[in-house]
Amino acid sequence: MHIGIAGAGLLGRLLAFELAKGGHSVEVFDPAPGPLPPASQQTPYAAGWTAAGMLSPTAELESADENVFALGLRSLELWPAIVASLGMPVELHRRGSLLLAHRGDEGAARRVVDLLKHKAPAGHAPQMLDAVALGELEPALHGAVHAWLLPHEGQIHSVQAMTALAHAADAAGTRFHWGITVTRLQAGEIHTTQTLRKFDCVFDVRGTGARPKPAVNGQDDGFTPQVRGVRGEILWLHAPGVVLQRPVRLLHPRHRVYLVPREGGHIVVGASEIESEDRSPVSLRSTVELLAAAHSIIPELAEARVIHSETNLRPALPDNLPRVEQAPGLVRINGLFRHGWLIAPALVEQTLKNLT
Ligand SMILES: Cc1cc2nc3c(=O)[nH]c(=O)nc-3n(C[C@H](O)[C@H](O)[C@H](O)COP(=O)(O)OP(=O)(O)OC[C@H]3O[C@@H](n4cnc5c(N)ncnc54)[C@H](O)[C@@H]3O)c2cc1C
Repeated sequence: MHIGIAGAGLLGRLLAFELAKGGHSVEVFDPAPGPLPPASQQTPYAAGWTAAGMLSPTAELESADENVFALGLRSLELWPAIVASLGMPVELHRRGSLLLAHRGDEGAARRVVDLLKHKAPAGHAPQMLDAVALGELEPALHGAVHAWLLPHEGQIHSVQAMTALAHAADAAGTRFHWGITVTRLQAGEIHTTQTLRKFDCVFDVRGTGARPKPAVNGQDDGFTPQVRGVRGEILWLHAPGVVLQRPVRLLHPRHRVYLVPREGGHIVVGASEIESEDRSPVSLRSTVELLAAAHSIIPELAEARVIHSETNLRPALPDNLPRVEQAPGLVRINGLFRHGWLIAPALVEQTLKNLT
């Protein structure tokens, strides 16, 4: 088939790679200037770049449903083979993740842990750790009192994976049209600022870019109406002396803070979740909350260097759950919210099985 894809974010790249590998002729349109990490925050770019890359089916059950959990488990099975076929190194681990709480925060932490125990199937529920067990797993974490292990979780380096997916899709024959905005689409058609293109099937994976725009000449512009952006802020630390093996979440009564270790002595600290479409730089309040929480569980982070901060919008639908709409000649996937990296491979697998 001749396939047109609107959007070269996480879903667009993954779809292009899988479809091109499967022998289809694939073209992708995106306003970004190219496949590499964005040089500045001046224009909107894919949320996929900003994500911490936690692959956390159980922890996400706090706000997601069993479908997201099942998609997450399936994606955890799929990621190793995808990464192995990309032809570039991508950091991917499956060493579990940790939930931590300070003394005094037991009430809030127990509520979350009980909820996860209730929603997660046997074998995936949080396992309580004593101080000795925690010290053996993560010697750096001596600032927390209560700890639980989620044994089946993982992480992926989102920046490396975005880069490698575009590279592999390109090598498999995908034609990327960078710097091109899709203004309208419908079954079998993609309209850009420059041209109208016809395809056997069109994929709309524009994330927050699929929001309604004012109608041009009274025409329905074919956008997904209810998509909204949910602001998320992250900070990158360079802390080569601090060794963490797996992602860690602090269960705090007022906010959730996580630390995700990346190779090269980096730690991603995130993330705020604010009902706002403001893409302006990270606020002082979020910086203080995120870094104070990180420091409270690893005091040695005091000397870490803050090397990068970033804001982006998670594409979300009103129920905060993913949605696939599949009709002849047109497939729309959106609402991956805070689970994109967790569920994208399984969503793509399911969607392509139904492609006719
Ligand atoms: C701070 C933060 C932390 C996160 N952490 C995690 C995490 O730890 N784990 C996890 O699983 N997920 C996480 N996520 C969520 C994840 O990044 C998203 O769910 C995922 O990126 C959504 O993928 P997508 O392809 O739908 O959208 P995007 O990745 O946003 O891609 C959309 C693409 O469409 C393009 N586009 C927009 N408008 C147009 C147009 N008119 N024409 C053509 N192209 C267009 C954009 O340029 C972009 O390239 C996080 C997100 C944020 C912001």
